[in-house]
Amino acid sequence: MTDKVSIAILVITSLAIVAGLLLSFAGRQFPANADDLIEQVNALLPQTQCAQCGYPGCRPYAAAVVRQEAEINLCPPGGQSTADNLASLLGRRELPLSSANEYTQTKRVAIIDEPLCIGCTKCRDACPVDAIVGAHQYMHTVIAVECTGCELCLPPCPVDCISLVPVA
Ligand code: SF4
Ligand code: SF4
Ligand code: SF4
Repeated sequence: MTDKVSIAILVITSLAIVAGLLLSFAGRQFPANADDLIEQVNALLPQTQCAQCGYPGCRPYAAAVVRQEAEINLCPPGGQSTADNLASLLGRRELPLSSANEYTQTKRVAIIDEPLCIGCTKCRDACPVDAIVGAHQYMHTVIAVECTGCELCLPPCPVDCISLVPVA
């Protein structure tokens, strides 16, 4: 009798574990709707809105990933850990961070040729991660550790005094 009870408990426990695993898997594979999954993917992205993935921001990239229009390894600021997290969330195979992007080959940061800067603030406004400091009509400078090398500050500069340099 005791053996039968033990076996019954073992079977019920095993079934509960299998059911839990199946529900967990189904939750990842078949979310309530695509928008929910896009939000889950977006939550794993760094939110720097730098467009280095080829999309105009993190959420558009998340939407493209969920629609299987984009690979999971295109976000340089997120690095390999973000690509791995996306693979885990979506149940896709892990991929090395894409080397198609120049940023992933050589990390670069912006530098301002400060004597040329006229303090227009346009680069500061364009930076998605607030890596540029400076006041109106005063020289601006880049906080290198904050810079993702996204290049978004280059086009707005009217005197073309910003460039990207490799980081050792
Ligand atoms: S590269 Fe990464 S951080 Fe930049 S916009 Fe794309 S998803 Fe966001
Ligand atoms: S300083 Fe320029 S290159 Fe660096 S993160 Fe800001 S916009 Fe991008
Ligand atoms: S956009 Fe160019 S000139 Fe204007 S503040 Fe930035 S570095 Fe200076």
